[in-house]
Amino acid sequence: MKHRTTILMTEFITHDVKRFIVKKPETFSFTPGQGVELVIDQEIWREEEGRPFTPTSLPTDEVLEFSIKRYPEHKGVTDKLHTLKAGDHLLISDPFGTISYKGPGVFIAGGAGITPFLAIFRQLAGAGAIAGQTLIFSNKTPADIICEKELRHYFGSRCHLICTREKGKGYENTRIDREYLQKIFSDTKQYVYICGPDKFVEAVNSIIMELGFSTETIVYEE
Ligand SMILES: Cc1cc2nc3c(=O)[nH]c(=O)nc-3n(C[C@H](O)[C@H](O)[C@H](O)COP(=O)(O)OP(=O)(O)OC[C@H]3O[C@@H](n4cnc5c(N)ncnc54)[C@H](O)[C@@H]3O)c2cc1C
Repeated sequence: MKHRTTILMTEFITHDVKRFIVKKPETFSFTPGQGVELVIDQEIWREEEGRPFTPTSLPTDEVLEFSIKRYPEHKGVTDKLHTLKAGDHLLISDPFGTISYKGPGVFIAGGAGITPFLAIFRQLAGAGAIAGQTLIFSNKTPADIICEKELRHYFGSRCHLICTREKGKGYENTRIDREYLQKIFSDTKQYVYICGPDKFVEAVNSIIMELGFSTETIVYEE
């Protein structure tokens, strides 16, 4: 691992997602959408392979932010990360990945798959370039939605928050299938960004291809 960093603060942003603010290593830089491997710099955990996470801060910020969902049943890295405190250390790899902003379009995310898009949205919002783009963000319940207020602020009526296990005013209770996506897309000349669990990405990707989008306009983590 290339860089060593220190956790400055942590806080819950949903019931099972924590924000980690860490020192930005001097020689570290990234493009919004890219991921890094994180290793917990403690005995035993140092021997574990790194796990991929995505900075949700801006490249110009003085610190790095990560938004990390905990999977207690895995008894793995995310479970341990959620117990760490300010002053604990992490090891960070150089950035990697195929998700980056290419041009206006529709962003489709499932759960923690919103993280690469958060950095992109924050950069677009800062540049006044987010208007007219669309977000489809699927979660189990409203309580699972990361940064809901911020996303509604950016996308307004183009913010589609889907909840698959709960109905509620302001949330769509639907599956992301062909019929649903057909209603969202006005043409196939825009970019489609997809991020989420592997099965989610595969399923959405194949519908998007069926709708006639070319592979050059579909952006996802390969
Ligand atoms: C490019 C990329 C960027 C990502 N960015 C983020 C991000 O910014 N934020 C975020 O929250 N997530 C992100 N993720 C997902 C994140 O990497 C995983 O959630 C994380 O690696 C899980 O690590 P873990 O050690 O807790 O569990 P795992 O490594 O998944 O599992 C640890 C152990 O638990 C076992 N296990 C696996 N599944 C189960 C199960 N269902 N029940 C019981 N045991 C199980 C495994 O066999 C393994 O031995 C990203 C993923 C990728 C690919």
